[in-house]
Amino acid sequence: MAQEIHEPKDVDIESIRPPSKKEVDKYQHANATIIALVRNNEALAISKTIRRLETSFNSKFRYPYTFINDEPFTERFMQRMQKLSDAPMEFVTIPKELWKKPSHIDEEREEKAMQILSDQRVSYAKKGSYHNMCRFYLGNFYNVPELKKYQYYWRIEPNVQFYNDLKYDVFKYMEATKKVYGFAINLYDISETVVSLWPETLKFLNKEDNYKYVNPNGAFQWLLENQQNPKNNKKANGYSTCHFWSNFEIGDMDFFRGDAYNNWFKHLDSTGNFYYERWGDAPVHSMGLALFADTKDIHWFRDIGYFHDPYVNCPNSPNTIGCETGQFSRWGHLSDQNCMASWIDYSMEDPSAIY
Ligand code: GDP
Ligand code: MN
Repeated sequence: MAQEIHEPKDVDIESIRPPSKKEVDKYQHANATIIALVRNNEALAISKTIRRLETSFNSKFRYPYTFINDEPFTERFMQRMQKLSDAPMEFVTIPKELWKKPSHIDEEREEKAMQILSDQRVSYAKKGSYHNMCRFYLGNFYNVPELKKYQYYWRIEPNVQFYNDLKYDVFKYMEATKKVYGFAINLYDISETVVSLWPETLKFLNKEDNYKYVNPNGAFQWLLENQQNPKNNKKANGYSTCHFWSNFEIGDMDFFRGDAYNNWFKHLDSTGNFYYERWGDAPVHSMGLALFADTKDIHWFRDIGYFHDPYVNCPNSPNTIGCETGQFSRWGHLSDQNCMASWIDYSMEDPSAIY
């Protein structure tokens, strides 16, 4: 926290500066889009996010937005969005087969399982659409036809905050350094929601020759850490429950489209536990990355000040305004949910090197 955070040094930063205002129309973009999965009734909340992202980043670059929804967007919604930015916008209805609950789910079993989770006070346990959303964001978003033309994405959500004036092209940063995934916040999950995620993953890895998918330089220690929060590890049967908080993601969809991640997803899907448990998109993305990506290709955007209630990444930098340096949550009692120390210890070669 004492270390001042600058722009990344592992890239020729001057080569990825924004174009001048006059040149922005001719800017050569990376193959990337900003993705927002939202409902029509979230127009106000997503407008706030877009205004902040425009101020922080996108008014300088004009990366296209792709809005996605399980229902058609209304005219009113689309008109409201178009007023917020000069960037191109696409409005997409998700094909039903990428969104809806698979037919093999036993609804009686699902109802019983959700009652148990709900009794344990797990939020969204009984909300069918939330389960669909998680499964969509972890197994299907990169297959939406309108997203297939893109490689990189930045996921945004309603009501989030950005605290910096970002003066470099984050997508070109990913491209130049060959990163597959960037995150801002790293935290523990509700272990009740992922009880069988790691055991099922081991079943998958031990089947046939699936072990070949494991990256020898994966983030295994971070994934399986049991020192800081042994209770979670125990309930989750060996998974630390540490995960990258997926409401902020800057990533390479080709990683998720690859055989390793997809065959694993198919196995997970066959268990039905997206509905009999409440496996979130964040732990599944994170576990997939820890197993199948090279740790050095996963990037902590330390320099991006970011808030999604109730957690924050607030770097010590002259370029960050509006948050409290080093704060993790606006609620003090939640600081034990922070998992970043484990990432720093196990997965970063030299935490002070690149900023
Ligand atoms: P939380 O951050 O886990 O509390 O969940 P959110 O309510 O923020 O949902 C995550 C993201 O999925 C947000 O961008 C929501 O707008 C979106 N979302 C959640 N459920 C639905 C749904 O049923 N339909 C659509 N179109 N978007 C959804
Ligand atoms: Mn959210």
